[in-house]
Amino acid sequence: MNFDPIFTAAQEAFLFYKNVPGKEKGAFLETLAEILESNRAEIVPLAVKESNLPEGRINGELGRTTGQIRLFANMVKEGSWVEATIDPADPSRTPLPKADIRRFLTPLGPVIVFGASNFPLAFSTAGGDTISALAAGCPVIYKAHPAHPETSKKVADCIHQAILKAGFPSALFTHIEGGIAEGQALVKHPIAKAVAFTGSHVGGKALFDLANQREEPIPVYAEMGSVNPIFTFPKKLEKENDALAKAFIASLTLGVGQFCTNPGLIFVPEAQAKEFEKAITTELNDIASAPMLHPGIAQAYYDSIQYFQSREELRWVKVADPKHLINGSTALAEIKASSWLKDPVFQKEVFGAFAMMVVYQSQDELLEITKKLHGQLTITVWADAEELQNQLFLLNLLEEKCGRLLFKGVPTGVEVGFAMQHGGPYPSTTSAHGTSVGAHAIKRFARPIAFQDMPQDLLPDALRDDNPLGIWRLVNGGFTK
Ligand code: NAP
Repeated sequence: MNFDPIFTAAQEAFLFYKNVPGKEKGAFLETLAEILESNRAEIVPLAVKESNLPEGRINGELGRTTGQIRLFANMVKEGSWVEATIDPADPSRTPLPKADIRRFLTPLGPVIVFGASNFPLAFSTAGGDTISALAAGCPVIYKAHPAHPETSKKVADCIHQAILKAGFPSALFTHIEGGIAEGQALVKHPIAKAVAFTGSHVGGKALFDLANQREEPIPVYAEMGSVNPIFTFPKKLEKENDALAKAFIASLTLGVGQFCTNPGLIFVPEAQAKEFEKAITTELNDIASAPMLHPGIAQAYYDSIQYFQSREELRWVKVADPKHLINGSTALAEIKASSWLKDPVFQKEVFGAFAMMVVYQSQDELLEITKKLHGQLTITVWADAEELQNQLFLLNLLEEKCGRLLFKGVPTGVEVGFAMQHGGPYPSTTSAHGTSVGAHAIKRFARPIAFQDMPQDLLPDALRDDNPLGIWRLVNGGFTK
């Protein structure tokens, strides 16, 4: 397991690729999107077979994957993402003359990306992490997820076709198959400059610790999931009980509950709890069990349910049926807020279609809950506008606990756009500064550099006086083109 030749080649590819103009990087990404689409007929059945996910979902996921590739292609072609900032010199300033300082974002170097099991396309080989790194200017060494090896190889082949067509070095992307030892060796390699990961808390934290033990610690952008609580308020529930129950169960059971934004926790006021429970039970009974991503994930799901069944604080509204182990069947348990508050284990993510309904008695109790809540990718508030009038303190606390705060709808369905934030305070991720979905994902793979009094003809195009790229820049504190 000697990865030296791979990293050396990736470093050489980096020194070439970092200077490739944004327009050419964008054209390369557009070609990749086209190649992936032209291979749809081969990719989709492979991913369906290896993930147990339905064809409609995988077809949609391929569209999402090429959509996000085009988003990054457009961003790098336009070029303003580098945050060019110019403070011109002022030689006449007293008592000391002011130097000319120019700052922008420059790519980090070769980075490691770990594929996710639950998104064989959109968070895997040519998924958001790989593409945002390539868009930033970083070669990618990709650790394939063992749950979808053939899909991964096929997509890697498409990436190499696009690299060849662009005339870029093939070491811009390397596909590695292997297990935990290979993944750890990649993270430890001195040439690696960052790690992106989506998966379990155990895996993400282990890689984070490893990266911090290196002689040169490197950032690890690990998205480790969360329970994505929904806070419901009395008036809202009174008015929309059935519709909210339907929305909650649809979100909980989407994709057999295998989404990092799956709402595994819902806080319900005591006065409305019975009616709400009745409505969700009706909804739950309509959901058939379906195969999970792989036997290991199904086993982990049922192990967690079994553990919670041993806890007497929980009253089971619906018990999972583990008869056909690969199938994830829905499960729901109720617990009083006073009991929930006593043990952090009740905040643990159960990856699958299981939720805990926590019944609270008062606004004070809701505040206590918020204070104890761990960091989340998302928090959803279902309340009438007037119910939020005097809740600024609670809302401020909720802001501290998540990366995305929703006031309508459900947390599943993460829009890929410019403003999206898919990340959050620990333990949902190891870096609350980053997002793994949306345009800002590119910033994880770049670092700022400032040039002081650098001659004009040596400056990168993004920082020259005549702005040859025509990008938005912050000059003397004001945005200008
Ligand atoms: P995982 O076990 O975390 O594995 C993800 C990737 O990380 C795999 O390539 C795996 O290597 C690697 N890995 C895991 N632990 C490692 C370690 N200690 N050192 C080096 N590499 C390591 O995730 P999974 O297989 O997708 O599913 C297992 C559980 O993860 C699920 O039950 C669920 O709880 C959680 N999960 C969360 C999300 C989310 O959205 N955050 C998504 C999917 C799964 P190998 O290839 O050797 O296994």
